[in-house]
Amino acid sequence: SDVPTITLNNGTAMPQLGFGVWQVPDDEAERAVTTALESGYRSIDTAAIYENERGTGRGLAASGLPREELFVTTKLWNADQGHDSTLRAFDTSLDRLGLDYVDLYLIHWPVPDHDKYVESWQAFEKIYAEGRAKAIGVSNFHPAHLQRLLKETGTVPAVNQIELHPHLQQSVPRAFHADHGIATEAWSPLGQGKDVLQEPKLVAVAEKHGKSPAQVVLRWHLQTGNVVIPKSVTPSRIRENIDVFDFELDAGDLADIAGLNTDTRLGADPDTMNWMG
Ligand code: NAD
Repeated sequence: SDVPTITLNNGTAMPQLGFGVWQVPDDEAERAVTTALESGYRSIDTAAIYENERGTGRGLAASGLPREELFVTTKLWNADQGHDSTLRAFDTSLDRLGLDYVDLYLIHWPVPDHDKYVESWQAFEKIYAEGRAKAIGVSNFHPAHLQRLLKETGTVPAVNQIELHPHLQQSVPRAFHADHGIATEAWSPLGQGKDVLQEPKLVAVAEKHGKSPAQVVLRWHLQTGNVVIPKSVTPSRIRENIDVFDFELDAGDLADIAGLNTDTRLGADPDTMNWMG
């Protein structure tokens, strides 16, 4: 496929554009993943809490693609944080996915009140050492949470997957990640298909390039260095969202999009997200 890879801090190559399956029911995940793989995606982002690891795994298996061509991410759920419970949860995720390794395993949220992300990370280090995750990272970690991992453990996360779209451009965490060799992965990259895609500036840039607003937003992520994992269950949109390698935004376009930042979250703030599911 045309999708470029980025090199993570341990040398692992990760496709810069992948397919997210949050809110896809397990019995629809196989079909969505199949459509994505047929459309050229090779990276799939799921999580234990999405309750679709089985359907995702069925889609991966049905593709017949060699395992080494796929890049599979799953995430540790909050209630499973802790050293031994992390190891058990990881085994369960692998079993549901039908895989013997994942490419990337993420701590889904820091849950600072629970105060277990450091010991969870130490379990991640073991999983990584065993080769059962080719890379390990985190999600929804503020720089302060990352600082604690850097101080108290021996492994820098390869990735931090955070909410990031034109209304929440995350310049402070992005700079922190860049300083420490952590890749920034954008969740809800399209702003969940809501207000972001209606922005008149974005619509104008899209018209100028003969592309859709969603394609312009994805192009903006790619050109600013983010890993991006748009979600759709609509086949035409699944294809549209990977058809972003035949045009380039210019400096004026990028400046217009930079001007759309409002620091508005669609999801929870990681400091107060304590939901155990
Ligand atoms: P998204 O920004 O990818 O938006 C998806 C929605 O946008 C779709 O449901 C659809 O309504 C719309 N859409 C998709 N393609 C479109 C197109 N071409 N044109 C117009 N509308 C379009 O939102 P998301 O699903 O929240 O995020 C993507 C992925 O990020 C998730 O599936 C999941 O894998 C991951 N994620 C992770 C976390 C986390 O805490 N780590 C949280 C949320 C999402």
